Amino acid sequence: METPWMIDTHCHLNLGQYNEDYQTIIDDALEHKTAIIIPGCDLASSKKGVEITTAYTGKPIWAAVGQHPTETGEEWDEKVYSDLARSDFVVAIGEIGLDYFHLPQDALEREHAVIAQKKLLQQQLDLAHEVKKPVILHCRDAHDDLIEMLIKQYGVWTSDRERGVIHCFTAGIREAQSYLDLGFLISFTGIVTFTNEYDDVLKDIPFEKLMLDSDAPFLSPVPHRGKRNHPRYVEFIAKKIAEVKGVTFEAVVMQTSKNARRLFEISF
Ligand SMILES: [Zn+2]
Repeated sequence: METPWMIDTHCHLNLGQYNEDYQTIIDDALEHKTAIIIPGCDLASSKKGVEITTAYTGKPIWAAVGQHPTETGEEWDEKVYSDLARSDFVVAIGEIGLDYFHLPQDALEREHAVIAQKKLLQQQLDLAHEVKKPVILHCRDAHDDLIEMLIKQYGVWTSDRERGVIHCFTAGIREAQSYLDLGFLISFTGIVTFTNEYDDVLKDIPFEKLMLDSDAPFLSPVPHRGKRNHPRYVEFIAKKIAEVKGVTFEAVVMQTSKNARRLFEISF
């Protein structure tokens, strides 16, 4: 049997860590049948992601555009994001979300930061709705607030098109179930290769709702932990999922790729 393509649904090749060699990395990934989605964190990285993917027209590499919750210091440029979001190379709005891990200590500053994050997220959920594209969500220590916003935004999910993905999932089954009920997929990073803490939740999430997510350059899986990450390393995440779910590595690659193709409406 021919080896199936893996899809790294979350890889920041548009960041400075790859300035010198992102082309070499993309070529290497493609040669080893690894497709790539490059999410944006701010305007510069969003633009760069679209530039990179445009240069690879015809290859299985796409971008997402968005402003990360830790980037609220940058003013949200509705017009530019809206133009970028309509590009054929852009398959989602992301990464966007809520991050309460990095909030200031002072109570009042904290409150303002939360308001700013929610406002930024809301603007981008609205943009996703407008351009009819899914969202790539980042969430750290803010699941209750995020779920509340998603319920308000999307309402009940009736098994129509899925709405997005919770990337780098590190919460429990209660949160996972809420996201699944709302029509979201869930992706796991290399974190699952260096702790067994998420084995149970991984076991419980239906196979057809899982995707692979390197979050490169961060979170390199074992045996590359601590080094700069590479899209091809999603292989080690797939191996861990196979072990936990008791299925073959090939089955994980095929199913997670199928899920990514469906969510992002990509074909190659
Ligand atoms: Zn990321």
